[in-house]
Amino acid sequence: LVERMRPFTTTVFAEMSALATRTGAVNLGQGFPDTDGPASLLEDAAAALRGGRNQYPPGPGIPELREAVAEHQQRFWGLDVSPADVLVTTGATEAIAAAVMALTGPGDEVVVLEPYYDSYAATVALSGATRRTVPLRAPDFEVTEAALRAAFSDRTRLVLLNSPHNPTGRVLSRAELELVARLAVEHDAVVVSDEVYEHLVFSGAQHVPVASLPGMAERTLVVSSAGKTFSVTGWKIGWVHGPSELVAAVRAVKQFLTYVSGAPFQPAVAAALRLPDEVFTGFAAQLEAKRDLLSQGLAAAGFAVNRCEGTYFVTADVRPLGLTDASALAWRMPEEVGVAAIPVQVFCDDPTAAPTLLRFAFCKRDEVLHAAVERLAAAG
Ligand code: PMP
Ligand code: GLN
Repeated sequence: LVERMRPFTTTVFAEMSALATRTGAVNLGQGFPDTDGPASLLEDAAAALRGGRNQYPPGPGIPELREAVAEHQQRFWGLDVSPADVLVTTGATEAIAAAVMALTGPGDEVVVLEPYYDSYAATVALSGATRRTVPLRAPDFEVTEAALRAAFSDRTRLVLLNSPHNPTGRVLSRAELELVARLAVEHDAVVVSDEVYEHLVFSGAQHVPVASLPGMAERTLVVSSAGKTFSVTGWKIGWVHGPSELVAAVRAVKQFLTYVSGAPFQPAVAAALRLPDEVFTGFAAQLEAKRDLLSQGLAAAGFAVNRCEGTYFVTADVRPLGLTDASALAWRMPEEVGVAAIPVQVFCDDPTAAPTLLRFAFCKRDEVLHAAVERLAAAG
């Protein structure tokens, strides 16, 4: 294995899920729902499979899906997008990787919020660029101007932004996004905005796409995917849109990573993006109730639970339990408590960033969450 990839030989999600399976633990580690999304979506994909849509689709994605993404961006976020500037990818993961590889190389710096989604670090390493972190710290996980300024330099080429944010559950405010936008403009950096949780936002919070801020559409690549919105994380249909020349650069890389993506899933996702508003808001409301169920259970079991405004994830501090090492607890918990969670420290460079925090996924059936809460309470 080449040296730059040696820190990335395994993913914490694969390891923790394997441990949960081995021990029979309730798996609140890896974030994936245990219920499938809209029935019409599944039927449309099955119909496409049976209907012979099984060969290479067009490289940039099928026209229906590129049009549906453009319409969706207008309908929910007021963004003006031409279908010609939409590229369908193999999940958001590929969109991000292709963007980072298309736009950065050795000597360039990529600004990421810390904690960061695990693929960001590996992807930046693949491109040979260097990551610079903006610390978001518990319990508020706020983006501050000082932290942002410290991460930018004259080598900043790209900002890898993520809101709603995994793993903290933060939904960045307009003011925080304006800070990011101002620094991106000052440093002439491109923003890659990972918005896979765009629809998983709870009462009191509002998702603001950074591309909707003045002057940002021309320097932002917006990334999302069907996985989270429609509870089909295994389908790996994502997309990216932005200014034509930036999307063309991403397409140049994508075509040699995977060439094309999931033919029979594309028409199904296109139709799903056009489903009524209630499908989107109804799912968020269900998830919000699950957030509350799990948060209350964690608090009753003695954790200090942080506010969660969106995503599938809530973080909790182990210090009130008399513990100081959340990572050690996370690796013991499946066996001893029967519940799996992810230590937030694995998403950080700074070894002092989040040593006492665990991330719990609540995108599970209520009975599964109840079982987890009961086991946590019993463990004391
Ligand atoms: N970004 C974030 C912040 C995520 O949490 C995930 C899903 N785990 C992804 C990207 C990857 O999305 P996809 O499965 O569409 O590649
Ligand atoms: N996004 C999911 C999470 O954060 C995991 C996806 C994966 O396993 N790569 O839990």
